[in-house]
Amino acid sequence: MTTVTNEAPTEHPNAVRQDRNEPAGTVVLESVTKRFGTATAVDSIDLHVEPGEFLSLLGPSGCGKTTTLRMLAGFEHPDAGSIRISGKDVLGIPPYKRNVNTVFQAYALFPHLTIAGNVAYGLQQTKVPKAEIRTRVADALDMVRMRSFADRKPQQLSGGQQQRIALARALVNRPSVLLLDEPLGALDRQLREEMQLELKLLQSRVGITFIFVTHDQHEALSMSDRIAIMREGRIEQLADADTIYASPANSYVAGFIGQQNFLDAKATGDGSADTPVGKIITSGTNPQIGTGDKISVAVRPEFVQLQPAGSTVGDNLNRLDGTVLSTSHLGETVQYLIDLGNELTMQSRLPTPTAPKLREGDAAIVTFSPDSVQFFPFDDRTN
Ligand code: ATP
Repeated sequence: MTTVTNEAPTEHPNAVRQDRNEPAGTVVLESVTKRFGTATAVDSIDLHVEPGEFLSLLGPSGCGKTTTLRMLAGFEHPDAGSIRISGKDVLGIPPYKRNVNTVFQAYALFPHLTIAGNVAYGLQQTKVPKAEIRTRVADALDMVRMRSFADRKPQQLSGGQQQRIALARALVNRPSVLLLDEPLGALDRQLREEMQLELKLLQSRVGITFIFVTHDQHEALSMSDRIAIMREGRIEQLADADTIYASPANSYVAGFIGQQNFLDAKATGDGSADTPVGKIITSGTNPQIGTGDKISVAVRPEFVQLQPAGSTVGDNLNRLDGTVLSTSHLGETVQYLIDLGNELTMQSRLPTPTAPKLREGDAAIVTFSPDSVQFFPFDDRTN
C-alpha cells in the first residue's frame, strides 16, 4: 500500500464541470491518466461502475490500484481524463465534498474514545445535531453488528472487530460510494475469510457502491460482482469472476488468476498448434491469432488428466507422454508435476478420491480435452 500524504486539491473557482444525469452511486472514469515524474502510474483507464456494485481492482504491487482509488477519493489529481461520481464531475472537488469515504488497511481508531465516540467523531466535527448523531451511530454500529460494543475502547476489541468499527465510521457518513484499500490486509487468514463474507453481506444490505483494492485474487473472486484486472497502470480485463476464470482476455490474465500451464507454440491455422512436445488442439477460437503466429497454449492443471503408461485414452483428447517428477498431497487434491521432455513440464491437480496412484519416476499419459485449451498471442511481458 502506498502511503503518501499529498495535499488534497482545492476546488478551482473556474473549473468547467461536465456533470451528467447518472444515478447516485455511479462511478465513471474516462481516459484517466496519472503520472509521477516520468512514471505513468495509471495509463488512460476507462471504468464504469454501476450503483450498488461491488467492484474490485486487482493486480500486482505497483500496477496503479491505490493511485486509482486515491484519485476517486480526491487525494490525487489526474493528469488527464475525467472522473464522475453520482453524475457529478469531481475533478477539483476536495475529498470531503465528494460523498465518498475510504477505509484503509490501518484502521487508526482513537484509543481514548469509546467505539461510539470513534464512530461519532466525524459527525461531531461537522456539527450534526446530537440526537441525529446518536441515531446514526446506532444505525452504523447495527450495520456491522457491533452495537453492544458501543461503550468499549478500541483496545478491548479484536482486529476484526476494530476493522468493523472502521467500516462503521465510514458508513455513518452515508456515502454513496465506499472506497476500500486492502482493508483486510492486517487480519490473519481465518479472520480475513470471515470478514470477506461479512463485507459482501454488508454491501448487499446497505446497497452502497464498493470499490475494493486488493492484490489477493481469492478475496476479489469471492466478493466482487466484477473485477478489473490491472497491469502497469492499465485494465487488462473487466468482467465477473466466472468470465475472468473461464475466458481470460489474454495470457497475462490467464496466468494471474488461478494456476495455469503454458506451452510456447506455433499456430498451424487449423485450430491446432505445434509445440516441441506434440500437436495440441483447441475447440475455441481466437481471432487475434493468424497462421504461423507464435502463441501461448494454456491449460489449467485441474483439466489435465493422468493415466499410467499403456492405458487406452479417448481419440478426441489431446495426448502427451511424460514421466512423473513429483506428487504432492494437498488434502482435497493431489498435485503432480510431469516431465514432458524438451525441458517442458506440466502440472495436473486432481481430486484426491479419484487421483491415479502414480509415483515419482512412473511413465504417464497426459490428456486434456480441446475444450480446456486456450490459445493466446505470445506476450513478451508475460512469457
Ligand atoms: P500496492 O499493491 O503495492 O499498493 P498499487 O497497485 O496500489 O500497489 P500504486 O500505489 O497505485 O500501486 O502505485 C503505482 C505506481 O506509481 C508505482 O510504480 C508507484 O511506485 C508509483 N507511485 C505511487 N504513488 C507515488 C508517489 N506519490 N510518487 C511517486 N510515485 C508514486
